Amino acid sequence: MRLWKELYRKNTKNYGRLEMAANMDQQTTRKEPGYRDIQERLTDFREVEKMLTLDEAKQQAERCFSCGTPFCHGYACPLANIIPETNELVNAGRWQDALEMLLVTHPFPEFTARICPALCEGSCVLGINEEPVTIRQLEKMIIEKGFAEGWVTPRPPLKRRSDSIAVIGSGPCGLAAADRLNKEGFKVTVFEKDFYPGGLLMYGIPNFKLEKDVIERRIKIMKEEGITFECSVTVGSDISFNYLQKRFSAVILTGGAQKSRDLDIPGRNLQGIYFAMEFLKAQNKRIVGEPLALGEDITAKDKNVVIIGGGDTGSDCLGTALRQGARQVYQVEIMPRAPEGRTGDNLWPLWPQIDRESSSHKEGGIRYWCITTKKFEGDKEGNVTRLHCAEVEWVKKEGCFIPAEKENTDFTLDAELVLLALGFVGPGPDPLADALGLERDERGNISVDDHHMTSMPGVFSAGDMARGQSLVVRAMADGIRVAEDVRSYLDTTL
Ligand SMILES: Cc1cc2nc3c(=O)[nH]c(=O)nc-3n(C[C@H](O)[C@H](O)[C@H](O)COP(=O)(O)OP(=O)(O)OC[C@H]3O[C@@H](n4cnc5c(N)ncnc54)[C@H](O)[C@@H]3O)c2cc1C
Ligand code: SF4
Repeated sequence: MRLWKELYRKNTKNYGRLEMAANMDQQTTRKEPGYRDIQERLTDFREVEKMLTLDEAKQQAERCFSCGTPFCHGYACPLANIIPETNELVNAGRWQDALEMLLVTHPFPEFTARICPALCEGSCVLGINEEPVTIRQLEKMIIEKGFAEGWVTPRPPLKRRSDSIAVIGSGPCGLAAADRLNKEGFKVTVFEKDFYPGGLLMYGIPNFKLEKDVIERRIKIMKEEGITFECSVTVGSDISFNYLQKRFSAVILTGGAQKSRDLDIPGRNLQGIYFAMEFLKAQNKRIVGEPLALGEDITAKDKNVVIIGGGDTGSDCLGTALRQGARQVYQVEIMPRAPEGRTGDNLWPLWPQIDRESSSHKEGGIRYWCITTKKFEGDKEGNVTRLHCAEVEWVKKEGCFIPAEKENTDFTLDAELVLLALGFVGPGPDPLADALGLERDERGNISVDDHHMTSMPGVFSAGDMARGQSLVVRAMADGIRVAEDVRSYLDTTL
């Protein structure tokens, strides 16, 4: 409350921040903490990104002061984090107040502080003519200082309500929904088919971007706040909807976009060709000491690896394959390389569609763009040995750009392991949604109305399962919204 009053006073005074801007050191430029040394980090799976010092963070926060109309929070951040005012508190060294301000909108800053593409920075006003403020880094400093100082503690609700809610799926969307409903006093049970909660935070995103004990640290707090986790339970097959209906007043499906896009070319049935998620999940299971089932023990060690798909999932496969000791790693992409800077149709404050080099790309591997994949070749035992490719150029036909193969550009890549990182095509078959006959949209996602209600009253859906594959920050924002919708539904129906 004290912080809100302060914020209100400042906004009504209007020019407080601009006054500070007039006094700031104009020479301060963007500073990123950088990564650990490549040779060192390739020998382990620990987090690669370093942290700013406290003084550097304060200086970076000061860069926020020159902003008149911030686009970062209302426009860009799906959680609407109150970024300029939070950074003002950082600059003043009021770290605990900054934490409280951050937690107003954000349930788990420690996740996005590590893996958010920082949509906020794409629309930072400074970005018009210089480098944007390091907003994501400051978020990391605030939350990690909060944990280090013991300020992040369980905050159970003061009063409990009688209704129980079931959340199916423990990815960022399910966790955010569970957190919000629990704080409102509902009794929440999260069901998860995997052994550990966290969804793609736990089993998809590599440890070198998000260490798994960061997730476990948060789950421990959520349990202490009163949320129940029932893991290794596939809802729809291990337990039925009838069972849920007897125990819970509302059900929220947050099962994610689990179906990987396939590549239908000759040789696809050869051994050694996997979806990216199979490969990444195996490594994350090794990290947390979870046993691998038969056929799950996929490794890149001593192999030539071809990753098909030039996006972030492909880049995660690249970093993982290099750490496992791959002989060579190739990443091929059918689209052209993005431009270095913004183009005329991609002006500020839109998200910059520019070429990005991930920490994994800096570590090794060979990247190709404008490449079509024609067929896999194998040996007598049925193992993949090579990928046949050709170059394409993008030509305009009937108003659309299509890839056209260039003549005499065929080539092959040696490949004893192929990873398909071609994105996801929705939730795929889901035992509960299918048993209930829930309507789906044209992309196969679960159809929901404006209040996240599916075609069955009392059953809600959100996150990647309803919107298609997206980002952690959007999944969390969806989780908060669906929780609000469930609360309104129960307030009006019960
Ligand atoms: C490899 C990879 C890397 C990524 N990296 C980033 C990144 O760096 N930054 C970023 O912002 N986004 C990233 N993303 C995207 C991001 O992870 C997702 O958008 C986000 O996790 C979606 O959250 P969600 O809660 O909707 O679903 P998910 O995280 O997919 O969680 C769904 C959960 O539901 C469970 N479930 C499904 N069906 C059932 C059932 N019937 N019963 C019980 N449990 C069930 C699943 O096991 C899973 O745990 C990445 C995605 C991938 C695949
Ligand atoms: S969650 Fe992402 S978009 Fe929002 S403030 Fe943090 S880094 Fe920026």
